[in-house]
Amino acid sequence: MPELPEVETLKRELARVLPGRKIKAFQSDKFDLPLVGRKIISVDRRAKILIFTLSGKLTLLVHLKMTGQLVYGKIMGGHPEDPAKYTRAIFTFTDNSQLFFNDLRKFGWLRLVDETELPQIFAETGVEPLAKQFTLAHFQDLLARYPKRKIKQLLLDQNLIAGLGNIYVDEACFGAGIRPTRLAKSLAPSEIARLYHAIIAVLKLAIQKKGTSFRNYRRAGGEPGGMVPHLQVYGRGKKECKVCGQPIEKIKLHGRGTHYCPRCQK
Ligand SMILES: [Zn+2]
Repeated sequence: MPELPEVETLKRELARVLPGRKIKAFQSDKFDLPLVGRKIISVDRRAKILIFTLSGKLTLLVHLKMTGQLVYGKIMGGHPEDPAKYTRAIFTFTDNSQLFFNDLRKFGWLRLVDETELPQIFAETGVEPLAKQFTLAHFQDLLARYPKRKIKQLLLDQNLIAGLGNIYVDEACFGAGIRPTRLAKSLAPSEIARLYHAIIAVLKLAIQKKGTSFRNYRRAGGEPGGMVPHLQVYGRGKKECKVCGQPIEKIKLHGRGTHYCPRCQK
């Protein structure tokens, strides 16, 4: 599933091309939305959701869920396997450029809301980890509030911290030298500080590399992101740790595939 860095990459790339464009046609067999004639004013992100502010005080929310893609271009573009087959919606602008919403697994969604509904929609959403509100003190407080939770479970909770998923939680734990199975209360203050900085560092690196593409995630132009070669543990079960050479362990934690180095992570 696309996480914060992937959605942030799309947000930045779409924010360069979409504002000012007017929707001439909207075709979808899944979503019936009155979008024709509306102009895109801005593109933003909150958690893993893209927020398109439209003319007429309406806001279009897009969640890519498991396999969603948003590909912008002048020609039919999109899914690496079969763009036409998995295209669920096509936005055509007045200059004939198009935005394709492709989604192999069909869990992704588009939702049109009144702009006044936004605070309610995001009321339960946790802090943005790259915002200035996410301080070390805030992070220490979260861990203190849920002492009996495993650290991975805590970091995945979207109501506590927004936008972290399986990939970047595993990577942040590796960066901090902490096993994802540890209980929050077992972390020493120095470990909490290391984890805090590792979360921010891995998200920033992933945004710089334009996200992680294993299969489905694509940038706004249809290209894959460049983060995979920089992953230390995620998707590397049984492969050698890049730091110590020990095989990376892959376990299930609350149903989620979880990767760590048994030597580098305590
Ligand atoms: Zn190692």
